[in-house]
Amino acid sequence: MPHTYEYSPKGAGNGVGRVSKDKNADGGIRHQYKILDEKVGADGQASTRLLQRTKEGDTYRAQTKINAFNFPFTGNSGGGCFFQCVYCFLRQPFFQMHRTLPHGREMDVTTNFASATEIFLKKNAHLPQYMKRVQWGVATEMWHPRTVDLAKPFEGLRAFQKHGQNWMLHIVTKSPKILDWADLLAEMKHQVQVEVSFVTLNEAASRIFETGTPSVSQRLRIVEELAKKGVFVRVMMMPCMREYQLNTIDGTRHIVFQHRETHEKAAGFKRVTERDGNAEGDKVGVELHLNGRWKKLSLAESGLWKPVIVKDWSDLAQAQQKWQNWGAKAYKQKDMNYFYVDELISAHSEDRAPKAERGRVEDPTAECIIHSGESVLDEAGTPRQVEVRAHHKPKKNWNGAKTPPAVMRSVMDFGYKLHSEIDWVDCI
Ligand code: SF4
Repeated sequence: MPHTYEYSPKGAGNGVGRVSKDKNADGGIRHQYKILDEKVGADGQASTRLLQRTKEGDTYRAQTKINAFNFPFTGNSGGGCFFQCVYCFLRQPFFQMHRTLPHGREMDVTTNFASATEIFLKKNAHLPQYMKRVQWGVATEMWHPRTVDLAKPFEGLRAFQKHGQNWMLHIVTKSPKILDWADLLAEMKHQVQVEVSFVTLNEAASRIFETGTPSVSQRLRIVEELAKKGVFVRVMMMPCMREYQLNTIDGTRHIVFQHRETHEKAAGFKRVTERDGNAEGDKVGVELHLNGRWKKLSLAESGLWKPVIVKDWSDLAQAQQKWQNWGAKAYKQKDMNYFYVDELISAHSEDRAPKAERGRVEDPTAECIIHSGESVLDEAGTPRQVEVRAHHKPKKNWNGAKTPPAVMRSVMDFGYKLHSEIDWVDCI
């Protein structure tokens, strides 16, 4: 919905103490923020801002789609991120969480995260076990050193420990600051999973794609130190930084694929042709531009074509070989969703936001997941399904029924049985 920002009182330069109102088109206040800290550049304009929410927004949100990448609930102790990864999905229009400055230059925090967590846990205590999973930190870096003492995510951890022992909490981070609470996470190891996010193992490449993040070695230290304490840690290589050969068809750049046997090349994209409800079980085919026309290939034909990789900036082979040696119990890797690597490099060198070129339709989906949401197969080799009640669907989809409708969901492997005795019904 279109919205505007309004400052009060008005004035130039340092705006600490001013209030920013994020208004809907009808003038109603959607969010309201107080400027806690503002750095002003030589041009007199704000270069970064730290905001405090004064009208609470969406600390916890229910998801209507549940699969390997979408958990029943998300939780965020604020929004935005100062780490300024050039590939960040929060740059996408759908995720425009920033309120007053562009992505990477603004963060906002809630100062009641602990009480919001308690309210969330009490409100949802009646839900069945398979709904009791939360992913923290999808819209912000909750352990960012500049905000962690304001937003206090560690108090949210204690709320889960006190009121939500039977919930699974997935935490994603790039910040070694989380290690200050390593002992608390170890106490909660039956109910937490920590995903440490990388896109490359190469420090020089990291400075191109992740201008403000902790170094690769600092992040590997998070994996090693938490793992040593028995915490379930996942290495997350997302998005993979693979630079493809590209070709422009009708004004759109596409990846070039090559036939494994004939070595013929053609531009194209991957497309999910059959879904089983979670990414790993999806069947992905290729659509190619052959002899001047677009042609959908059968799944068997698709398997003969592979994308032409110009450079693997992520060192994926090394990451795949080593994640277990670092101490992680799970690994996941996913290709780019929105940007091509050459565009990210150009955007970095020109100090601008990258131009999105790809939509989800051509996302090649999960390419490697281990204990990270892959389909569990039955004895016949088909994805195992389980009937559950669709508490995640909006009530209007219940068609007037008092209880949620029954739906079949694919059983996913998240490695829970490696550290929890709870039966999660659709997750093992
Ligand atoms: S750390 Fe995550 S949220 Fe922050 S800029 Fe990077 S990708 Fe975005």
